[in-house]
Amino acid sequence: MSQDFKNNIDKAATYLARFKQNTLGHYINGEWTLGSEGETFDNGSPVNGESLGKVVKASVVDVDAACKAAAKAQKEWAAMSGAKRKTILHKLADKIEARAEEIALVESSDCGQPLRFMRQAAVRGAANFRFFADKAPEARNGLALQQEEHTNFTVKSPIGPVGVITPWNTPFMLSTWKIAPALASGCTVVHKPAEFSPLSAAILAECADEAGLPPGVWNMINGFGEVAGKELTQHPDIKAIAFVGETVTGSMIQKQAADTLKRAHFELGGKNPVIVFDDADFDRALDAVVFMIYSLNGQRCTSSSRLLIQTGIKDRFLAALKARVENLKVGHPLDPATEVGPLVHTTHYEKVLSYVDAAIEDGATVAVGGKRITDLGNGNYLTPTLFTNADNTMRIAREEIFGPVLTAIEFETEEDAVTIANDTNYGLAAYIWTSNTGRSMRMAHSVESGMVWVNSENNRNLPSPFGGVKMSGIGRDGGDWSFDFYMETKNVCIAFDTHRVPVLGRE
Ligand code: NAD
Repeated sequence: MSQDFKNNIDKAATYLARFKQNTLGHYINGEWTLGSEGETFDNGSPVNGESLGKVVKASVVDVDAACKAAAKAQKEWAAMSGAKRKTILHKLADKIEARAEEIALVESSDCGQPLRFMRQAAVRGAANFRFFADKAPEARNGLALQQEEHTNFTVKSPIGPVGVITPWNTPFMLSTWKIAPALASGCTVVHKPAEFSPLSAAILAECADEAGLPPGVWNMINGFGEVAGKELTQHPDIKAIAFVGETVTGSMIQKQAADTLKRAHFELGGKNPVIVFDDADFDRALDAVVFMIYSLNGQRCTSSSRLLIQTGIKDRFLAALKARVENLKVGHPLDPATEVGPLVHTTHYEKVLSYVDAAIEDGATVAVGGKRITDLGNGNYLTPTLFTNADNTMRIAREEIFGPVLTAIEFETEEDAVTIANDTNYGLAAYIWTSNTGRSMRMAHSVESGMVWVNSENNRNLPSPFGGVKMSGIGRDGGDWSFDFYMETKNVCIAFDTHRVPVLGRE
């Protein structure tokens, strides 16, 4: 064990001790509470299955208390000047940065993502707050729209209390990606983190508290989707739901939220293609293909889980890819050398492994991996997996596996590539590798996805829109798109008193 690894284990143990010793509750109206019923669930470690502590399951009464607190705080938070909100949110970012190491170690231990990636969690989370904080003073600004005898102008106002429901794959970053623009817009928030990885959300709520957010502006409830999540989506005080998770859950939420006619924003699943043409920069494409499916344990919505590889370079590319996948370092998430860690939960682990059987049944080849790793202890470890000889009809090409598992599919022509890429219910991201500029332009337009990267892995740009089409989502995050979701637009029309007002009923 390297000294760095040992230090990480020791530090993580110190940070995790309080969660092991004390039941984690909810943060409602500026106070920590164990809730109305106090029923708990066990938060298991992906590394060895041991308990990381008990967490309270929110009851309907707890959710109601959180939503009412958010509703009560809404007026004052919305009335606060954007400049003041900006100051508070920057302070919150300071608090996150001050606890960056703790956040990384806790998050890595809780969800199994290797520390080498999770080190960025707090940095990116803080950057989200700073970016949206800076936009807060101008968030209400609208447009001036002139007519001959009237002037129209638009003003924007916060929609009201927002429910934020997040998944377990990169919980800290994703939560800040939603909560930061909501707060900057002037909305109060009730956050429900995923039950598989609740710890970093508690640290985030503590940072909010330390930053001096007024009570009720930020509320956090723990618990399961079927009770806590469902109640949040149905609560009449909640005006919008920002959801990140599986497509099937998004569909349930749309139904649950229908009676109260909520605005909903969905960032859902994907089966994203990376399309590598014969004329691609071989080495850069290979690096990106490996990175975009095996980083973050493949538990990443924008992972490129389908490799579409052109016939001319197929054999050479797959041979090089195979060697790289075989060489990936699987290990403890806190080991700085680890490239692939354990999967978040036994349920998810079994789901991912089931696709090895599906691949064989459907006639694909398991070129690399597909096995449980047992010599790393009792954790959810599997060998990074590569399926070859696959076609797009197979389950491994159609269903989101959400693990370090790549399905390679051969194509011959540009038209074939487009057909295969689009033959999916999903449409989140696509990656195109070619040195032909015209082709990259044609492909970028023809591929059905919310985001396309040309000759690049997923590169993040906060002002750019992020989101999916088809079953991958509704709505966009990022830049002003986030404000559009969390705010209402009002049109004000003022006459010059020169136009003829229609006259009825005059003698
Ligand atoms: P999930 O849908 O199972 O759970 C997400 C959240 O929804 C959890 O907090 C859960 O408790 C809650 N939930 C479950 N049922 C609910 C219900 N009926 N009502 C309200 N809330 C409910 O997703 P997951 O397994 O935690 O996360 C993995 C999924 O998230 C993958 O499909 C992945 O692609 C997707 N994801 C998408 C993006 C994106 O930006 N498009 C980003 C990250 C993850």
